[in-house]
Amino acid sequence: MILYDYKCAAGHRFEAGVASMTSPNPDCPACGAATSRALTSVQVGGTASAGPSREQMPRSWKSIGGGHPDAVRHWRSAIEKREKLEDRYPELGGDRRPVLAHEGIFRDRPLRAGDDIGASVKDALNSSAAAGGRAGREPATTAAEAPRTSDASNTSQQRTTSTKGRTT
Ligand SMILES: [Zn+2]
Repeated sequence: MILYDYKCAAGHRFEAGVASMTSPNPDCPACGAATSRALTSVQVGGTASAGPSREQMPRSWKSIGGGHPDAVRHWRSAIEKREKLEDRYPELGGDRRPVLAHEGIFRDRPLRAGDDIGASVKDALNSSAAAGGRAGREPATTAAEAPRTSDASNTSQQRTTSTKGRTT
């Protein structure tokens, strides 16, 4: 297995193990977007790294190198390391309440168990309205999942409002 650093269009950086140099790039574990290989950062011995946060951990088989055993092993040990670290420094753990909804209007700020649902919906609607507004009407698909041949109806979703007025 080879370890590479990857980065997505949104600027997330993460490290992932792939089977070989020709393996496809894993999707971004944080946002699901396609990634490109970044210049490998050389880890200098002696400095302890906190490792990837939970948000940076892969959430699907696809982002874990297609379930390649070496990749799984890599992430399992990263997760165990992280859990030990969080035992000592609980503030690293962040919000660990279960996520109830993370699509559509909740894409940027997931709804979690214990949240005030009314307030969360209002917040989410406000922020998605500010971002162009249509997130609530369409199923949330990441750039990587969206078919390349999709028609114009959803291509403006990620863009700014300046391109939105241009219809037909
Ligand atoms: Zn990302």
